[in-house]
Amino acid sequence: MAHAKHIFVTGGVTSSLGKGIIASSLAKLLQARGFSVTIQKFDPYINIDPGTLNPYEHGECYVTEDGAETDLDLGHYERFLNVPTSQANNITTGRIYYNVITKERKGEYLGKTVQVVPHITDEIKRNFLLLDETGKYDIIITEIGGCVGDIESLPFIEAVRQLKWELGPNDVVVVHLTLLPYLKSAGELKTKPTQHSVRYLSESGVQPDIIVCRTEKPITNDIRKKIALFCNVHINSVIEARDAETIYDVPVLMRKEKLDERVLARLRYPYKKEPDIEAWKEFLGHLKNPTEQVEIGLIGKYVELHDAYKSIAESFIHAGAYNNCKVIIKWIQSEHLNEESVHTHLKGLKGILVAPGFGERGIEGKIAAVKYAREQRVPFLGICLGMQCAVVEFARNVIGWAQANSTEIDLETPRPVIGLMAEQKDITEMGGTMRLGAYSCELKKGTKAYQAYGKIKITERHRHRYEFNNAYLNEFEKKGMVASGIHPEKELVEVIEITDHPWFVGVQFHPELKSTVMNPHPLFMRFLKATMEYAKKQQQVEA
Ligand code: GLN
Repeated sequence: MAHAKHIFVTGGVTSSLGKGIIASSLAKLLQARGFSVTIQKFDPYINIDPGTLNPYEHGECYVTEDGAETDLDLGHYERFLNVPTSQANNITTGRIYYNVITKERKGEYLGKTVQVVPHITDEIKRNFLLLDETGKYDIIITEIGGCVGDIESLPFIEAVRQLKWELGPNDVVVVHLTLLPYLKSAGELKTKPTQHSVRYLSESGVQPDIIVCRTEKPITNDIRKKIALFCNVHINSVIEARDAETIYDVPVLMRKEKLDERVLARLRYPYKKEPDIEAWKEFLGHLKNPTEQVEIGLIGKYVELHDAYKSIAESFIHAGAYNNCKVIIKWIQSEHLNEESVHTHLKGLKGILVAPGFGERGIEGKIAAVKYAREQRVPFLGICLGMQCAVVEFARNVIGWAQANSTEIDLETPRPVIGLMAEQKDITEMGGTMRLGAYSCELKKGTKAYQAYGKIKITERHRHRYEFNNAYLNEFEKKGMVASGIHPEKELVEVIEITDHPWFVGVQFHPELKSTVMNPHPLFMRFLKATMEYAKKQQQVEA
C-alpha cells in the first residue's frame, strides 16, 4: 500500500541535462522543509546493474552501504541528502526482466502469456513502491534514466502513467526536464524541442505537471507563457534551470524558482516550514571564496572521462570548501607515465592520488607515480588499486623484490604481495561478486589514519577482489610501511602508510563514496591539509 507521495523526474530533448542534479536539489529542498525524502533511479539499459560496465560507458560505478553496484547519480543523491541509499534505489530494465523471467520459470504466472503490459509494467510498479513499503519516507523521488522517446524508456513511462492513475493526481507528480537551446543567429531561446518532448510524453499518456527548462540564458515571461500554453501546464510550473557555476548552486536556484513549492502545491501537501538551507549556503560561500589553492594529480586510466572518478572529484570539492582551498585536479593518464616521464608530468603537484581501477593497462605508470610521491615526499593517497600499487612499489623498490606484483597483473610473480582473497578463488561470475559494500575497520592509534578519523572503529565501502598478502606483512612493517587499519574479523589489511613520509596513505576501501556536502570525508580533509602544508613548505624553500 502506498504511503508516500511520489515525484517522477523524466527527461526530454537530450541526455546529460542533469536530471540527477535537479532530482537531488528538489529532494534537498524538501528535506530542508522537514520531510523525509529518498531518491531512486530507474535505468533503461539491459545490464542487471552497472557493475560490469566499463567506466567509459556511464562513468563511475557507485557502491552503496549494502554493497549494490549502482549508477553514479546515486552518489549525487547521497552527497546532497547526506542519507545512504541502497540496492532498492537503483533498478535497471535488466533487473526487471530478470525478476519477471525468474518468476515465469517458477511457473508463477500460472500458464499466462507473459507480456510487457501488464507483467513488465507491474514489476516496474512493484519496484517503484519498494522503498515506500519501508514506511520511512514522506516523499519518494524517482528519476527515470534516458530520454522520453527512447524505445527502452517506454515501459517505464507506461508504468508511471498507470501509477498516476492508480494512486491519483494528489499522490503522483511528474516533473519533466527539457532543454531550451539558444540560437545565436536568431538571438532566441527555442521552445519547439520542449513542445515536442512534452507532446511525446502526453501521447504516452503522461501529462507533466511541472516543466524544468535547462537553459544558458534567462527565460522571459513570454517564453514561460508560450511553454505553459503549448505544454498544458500552469505558468508558475515552468521552472528555469539556468547553467550554474557549480552543481551545489542548483538547490538555491530551484528555491528561487519555487520548484519545491510548486511540487508540494500539486501534491496538496502541507508546506511544513520554509526550507532551512543556511548551512548549505555557508558551504557555498566557502566553496566560492577560497583563500588558497593547490594542484593535485589524479592518476588513472579513464581520465579522459572525468565522470569515471566523479566521487573523488566531488570529495575534493567538499574538503576544499571546508579548508577554504580551491583544489585543481590535474588529470593524468597513467599510460603516459614511466620512471622518466613521471618527473615532467608530476612536477610541481602538491599531492598525488592514484585512483582505483582494474587490470593491467596503465599499471606500471601508476607504480611510477607512487615511487615519485614516495621519493619526492609529496603527499600521497592511494585508493583501492592505488593502494595496491603502493604496496607493489614498496616491495620492489624498498624491500628489494624486483618482481613483486599483484596476481591480478602477474599470476606467476615470485612475490605475490597482493593476491586474490580466499573467498574469491572459486568465483566465476563477474557481476556482483566482488567484496562489496560496508565493512568495519580498526585503526591503530598514533597513525596518520587514526589522526584523520580521530577514532578507532570505522566502516568504509569496498569494491575489490584482491587484498594485501599477510604473509609479507612483517617484512613491510620492518621496512617502514605499516598496516594502520585492519578488518578485525578476517585480519584483512585495509590501510597502509609509510611512517617516514610527511603523508603517504593507501586505503583498500573507497572513502570517496562517503564524502557529502555536510560531512566531508576525514581522509580527504587530512590529505588536503597535508598538500596545503607541503605547498607552504615548497614556497618557503623557493623564497
Ligand atoms: N582491481 C583491484 C581489485 O579487484 C582493485 C579494485 C578497485 O580499485 N576498485 O582488488
